[in-house]
Amino acid sequence: MPTNFEDSRLLPILDKVEAGQRLSYEDGVALYRSHDLLALGHMANIVRERLHGNITYFNVNRHINPTDVCVASCRLCAFGKRVRDPKAYTMSLDQVWETAGRGWTEAVTEFHIVGGLHPELTLDWYCQMLRGLKERFPQVHLKAFTMVEIAYLAQRAKLSVRETLERLIAAGVDSLPGGGAEIFSERVRRIICDHKITGQQWLDTARVAHQLGLKSNCTMLYGHIETHEDRVDHLVKLRELQDETGGFVTFIPLAFHPDHTPLEHIPKTTGFADLKQIAVARLMLDNIPHIKAYWIMMTPRIAQIAQRFGSDDVDGTVVEEKIYHDAGATTSQSLRRGELLRLVREAGREPVERDTLYRPVTRTESAFTVLV
Ligand code: SF4
Repeated sequence: MPTNFEDSRLLPILDKVEAGQRLSYEDGVALYRSHDLLALGHMANIVRERLHGNITYFNVNRHINPTDVCVASCRLCAFGKRVRDPKAYTMSLDQVWETAGRGWTEAVTEFHIVGGLHPELTLDWYCQMLRGLKERFPQVHLKAFTMVEIAYLAQRAKLSVRETLERLIAAGVDSLPGGGAEIFSERVRRIICDHKITGQQWLDTARVAHQLGLKSNCTMLYGHIETHEDRVDHLVKLRELQDETGGFVTFIPLAFHPDHTPLEHIPKTTGFADLKQIAVARLMLDNIPHIKAYWIMMTPRIAQIAQRFGSDDVDGTVVEEKIYHDAGATTSQSLRRGELLRLVREAGREPVERDTLYRPVTRTESAFTVLV
């Protein structure tokens, strides 16, 4: 097919993409600087179709956020609350288990569990929570805890990250969602999340998890005060760790939602920026299998278009998302399975329901006890 790029500076990168060669740091910066979105999408789509053909993945999951109490007070965050904040909540163990089972359907294959850094909830409490979930829902995959939560639990329990992860695995953790990475640049972290672990600690925690056999996702928060160079540096660091461990399954770019945060003056990302981010991620992260367009953050409309710009996943049905809705996300809190199927099919892709580790899930509509 003849290629008509508006930005001719991208042509040497196209040659590399077609030859399956790794892109450099400088290539990454050139991609971000370009406004030729269709060229970026064209190149990202080459990689995406080489890896996944026409398939777009989705899953049927439920989010559980056991507490929004957090000691970190990151400026990027509208979710975390101080312990004495009258609007803060902390579920009891029974409430966590009850939430997991609310509107229960056997279609759910994954619980996605993340929350604040609570100053009183102990590692034992979380282990009990996990064991209780496994007892009640033995077939459901538990994707739980950001690297930040794991490091905090380790610090409070006076254990190493490795020992902490070993306990969590023994109690039922099956994989890690990969949140809390934000942007690895220390200059930016000092401003947006100065009480959080460093970028290096995030990477070290992921490394240990992968060494223990856990798969994880990885993320990047974009659209705040970071530069193009910061973003490329972040992607390259993820790529390097992946070369070492092979433990990352999916990269999820997370658009910054400024509402109700101390950084409220920063404008929201645009559809153009979101699609560019998806495309650059697909092009730079040549060793991470999947790129997710998380519809909660991007809106279902942009997540749908992203299936032609490098993404091969639209995330799941979610059910009760709190974190980005506290920051002003205007998307619905859940999507029914049928709506996800329509989004994907209208984009000309073939929807494949997956479990957390991308094994296809087959079922008939009549197998559902509750419509999800
Ligand atoms: S981003 Fe995470 S660690 Fe930071 S305040 Fe929010 S919940 Fe706490």
